[in-house]
Amino acid sequence: MQLLNTQDLDKQNISSLNLPAINYLFNRVTNKKRADIEFEIELQDKSTRWVLGSMNQSKTTGEYILVVHDITQLRQLNSMRRDFISNLSHELRTPVSVIRANSETLLDGALDNKKEAKTFARAILHNSERLSSMVSDLIDLSRIEYGDLKLNIKGIDFNDFMESFLVSMKSVAKKRDIELKYNPDHQGLLSADTQALERIMNNLLDNAYKYSDEGTLVEVSTKDQGKMIKVMVADSGVGVSDEDQEHIFDRFYRTASARASDKQGSGLGLAIVKNLTNSLNGEVGVESKHDSGSIFWFTIPIG
Ligand code: ADP
Repeated sequence: MQLLNTQDLDKQNISSLNLPAINYLFNRVTNKKRADIEFEIELQDKSTRWVLGSMNQSKTTGEYILVVHDITQLRQLNSMRRDFISNLSHELRTPVSVIRANSETLLDGALDNKKEAKTFARAILHNSERLSSMVSDLIDLSRIEYGDLKLNIKGIDFNDFMESFLVSMKSVAKKRDIELKYNPDHQGLLSADTQALERIMNNLLDNAYKYSDEGTLVEVSTKDQGKMIKVMVADSGVGVSDEDQEHIFDRFYRTASARASDKQGSGLGLAIVKNLTNSLNGEVGVESKHDSGSIFWFTIPIG
């Protein structure tokens, strides 16, 4: 009734609904006994919905029966699936074609030149590593989304966690000549899963290093928000424009400058961060201005 914007269909003429799709159904059903149509309608609040209308004629009474289903969500899911498959094929094709082209060049004669052969072999190795990290990110993402990832949620002291985590992250930072600092401002336990926290922090710090210049500072800090702890990862790198901020947590989204640069990436890291923080009952976000660094943050319940 809400879909068709009417209170009572009883004794109403079908044409009074003023919906061409329903009139079409009615014309078809008089010849065929049953007809279906998918159409888009605008509701009173100006939102649009997709509707599946089916009409048939009762054999016994001769009455026409109209059934309408709101299929907007189904349509959105289908379009998300189509986008996902098209993005995935596009992302996988690039490394695969590089591997193929380089192997062909090797077989066509470059193998005989040791120096050249090394360059092509390196490109093959580099792109196969890229492929394999994309595939494992995808497997992780689908496990998280389907709820297959078993989380072991328990009380975790984030300061202890960071102490051991920073040891491994500092050596990576040193390689990139980046200073890594930890500035906590909370106490007590978080309710989280250690591996999930590691994954979240790894992805955020990886990005902070990747999108910053050498010689800069990356700072992790925390804030007590009562029921939640907010963890912030701040860098002074390239930053994210307002427009890109709306999309960077989507699967495969990479900003135009990230794509244009030689920085490796699949565009899946932040989608994994978002899914994992949601699984831990937290939220995720970013504050940033183009060219003046970013603060990626997430919240985790106090445990
Ligand atoms: P990628 O594998 O490309 O790094 P992510 O999902 O981790 O994929 O990030 C998506 C995009 O968000 C990146 O391509 C980059 O454009 C942008 N981004 C992520 N982290 C940062 C950051 N710390 N500073 C600037 N841009 C970032």
